[in-house]
Amino acid sequence: MESIYNKYEPVIGLEIHAQMKTNSKAFCRCSTDFHSSPNSNVCPVCLGYPGALPVLNEKLVEFAVKMGIATNCKIRENSIFARKNYFYPDLSKGYQISQFDTPVCSTGYLNIKLKNKSVKRIEITRIHIEEDAGKSIHDFHEDDTLIDFNRCGVPLIEIVSEPDINSTEEAFQYLTKIKQTLVYLEINDGNMEEGSLRCDANVSVRLKGDNKLGTRTEIKNLNSFKNVSDAIEAEIKRQIELIESGETVSYHTMTYNAKDKKTSTARTKEEAHDYRYFPEPDLVKLKVDKDRIGRITETLPEFPDERQKRFVRDYFIPDNEADEITQERNFADYFEKVAGSLLNKNERTFRISGNIVRSEVRKVMNERKLGIDEFPISPKVIAMIADSVNEGKISISASKEIFTAVLDGKNEDEQKSIFRKSEESYSQVSDSSEIELIVSRILENNPKEVERYKAGEKKLAGFFVGKIMQESKGKANPKIVNELLLKNLEV
Ligand code: ADP
Ligand code: MG
Ligand code: ZN
Repeated sequence: MESIYNKYEPVIGLEIHAQMKTNSKAFCRCSTDFHSSPNSNVCPVCLGYPGALPVLNEKLVEFAVKMGIATNCKIRENSIFARKNYFYPDLSKGYQISQFDTPVCSTGYLNIKLKNKSVKRIEITRIHIEEDAGKSIHDFHEDDTLIDFNRCGVPLIEIVSEPDINSTEEAFQYLTKIKQTLVYLEINDGNMEEGSLRCDANVSVRLKGDNKLGTRTEIKNLNSFKNVSDAIEAEIKRQIELIESGETVSYHTMTYNAKDKKTSTARTKEEAHDYRYFPEPDLVKLKVDKDRIGRITETLPEFPDERQKRFVRDYFIPDNEADEITQERNFADYFEKVAGSLLNKNERTFRISGNIVRSEVRKVMNERKLGIDEFPISPKVIAMIADSVNEGKISISASKEIFTAVLDGKNEDEQKSIFRKSEESYSQVSDSSEIELIVSRILENNPKEVERYKAGEKKLAGFFVGKIMQESKGKANPKIVNELLLKNLEV
């Protein structure tokens, strides 16, 4: 039986709000510090006292333009700000300063990679500058709502995609790419939990093959990657079931409840806001001329896609592993520090370094909940381990033990001395006569397996190698073990 769900194609457009990492707010000098005590970062401008005049934060423009360039947008040379009017208790001004029909960046795109290895382009409609509203706190006092105005006037950019996204996987990858780009540019901290990155998902469905878009609903304020995926999934299902039961989807703003994994209506179009946008009279036109765009372009870092390609090309790192390493800028920096410290810079040492960084370093970061900047082992010491494996002094399995031992070193010097001591004690036995003794002992002790091997069960070679390595405490040089084992089994 064909599932009803397969008849439909989901269509998704994301609106992403990203808080810009400036020190001061968008239109005043108040601090943007998230951890300040409530209502301590406020002034007449961000509280909207009559007569107080906003002054645009230049850094905010620079950051928005950076994101525009990074997402292949056109940068508008002349744009204006607009007032978006609405009443809300945590918006004492009665309006937000935003941009309406002249966003500073428009018509860009990002490419995303999917599990089936295909690359898909997601078009970006616009990126505009706006300020945040305050925060209502409902769960602090049982009967009261508290208001914190610290967030009023905190600078945001809103990134609006075209309805080009056709699955939860694509939505997830697109959001990941947006976050990665923002964090690479160091203009946003990528923290969805603290609300510095927020996402609204617009969802509709249509019969496969239809060109016309279905009616969308808009799920507001999704605050984790998981919630974005789960909410979209739940909403697609809800809409398909609605249509299949003969009803129609109508425009609603929805909220998502992570507990029962369901979306529900927040308000309908009739109650929807009419924001009565009009040009902000207190701010002059925003001009971003070619010179300025040029100057900003010069400050841009290498983007993740380019870096990933360079890692494949220059360090011989396999495609998907290079993806993994370049996901996060500081993590990729760490790898490059290791690579730069290698004594022998060749394909093998680069790959060994890549493997240590991707697996051992990452594992400890996860276990200890550390960022790469807090990771205790100096990149130089990782390079020493990789060089040692390359030179055949230690085996891969010994390198893992040494890595763990080095973790206890409090600083680079201590780590280096732990490394040297361990290298000595783990150093591989490459002396054939010593290894040969172990090989013959293992073969003597396992006569049945030897017989089976000789009768054609060649995969038992692995069993013998395991025993020999165990007996040598991991020190026997595997290449020599293999040679001697085969030699002794052939007789
Ligand atoms: P609004 O402010 O009313 O939400 P915007 O134009 O700012 O309108 O945002 C609309 C968002 O919804 C965009 O991301 C767009 O791609 C998406 N969208 C528009 N129509 C549809 C649709 N039929 N199905 C899914 N997404 C849609
Ligand atoms: Mg919207
Ligand atoms: Zn202020």
